[in-house]
Amino acid sequence: MSTYTDEQVAHLVDGTLNWETTFRMLSMPKDNSRFEQYLKALQAKVGFKERIVLPLGPHLHIVQNANKQWVTQCDCGHAFCDYRENWKLHAAIYVRDTEEAMTEVYPRLMAPDTQWQVYREYYCPSCGTMHDVEAPTPWYPVIHDFEPDIEAFYEEWVGLPVPERAD
Ligand SMILES: [Zn+2]
Repeated sequence: MSTYTDEQVAHLVDGTLNWETTFRMLSMPKDNSRFEQYLKALQAKVGFKERIVLPLGPHLHIVQNANKQWVTQCDCGHAFCDYRENWKLHAAIYVRDTEEAMTEVYPRLMAPDTQWQVYREYYCPSCGTMHDVEAPTPWYPVIHDFEPDIEAFYEEWVGLPVPERAD
């Protein structure tokens, strides 16, 4: 029996849960129905038909497309790239590296010194949703957050069959 109702899970989906929180919630002692509920609620919310394999963020997912390839995809249906690639390199990137650009979003005294820190914002090129922000030093390469071990997650954590993958 699941301890979460569909409605509760839908609220979680609507919130701003990041992946770490989600992962912690989903990987409590084996409760595969919770993960299934979560995916069901996510799937009902997005505007595409591709099956969600794993959410990466509030509006970003790894999905299984019609050719059974796994790709990183936005809520709007825009596919960035193969899920093993860094989707950020396929995003629209806005870099705040001047004081003026910083103070558009951060109060003047709190804005970082742009010699030492810039803000890189990653947007969907189709719908303009912001999927991530990084605050690296200016010369730091684009960060590839993590490569989730999806097979292990399905098999070992939630005890569900791994969705089919073509390659
Ligand atoms: Zn989009």
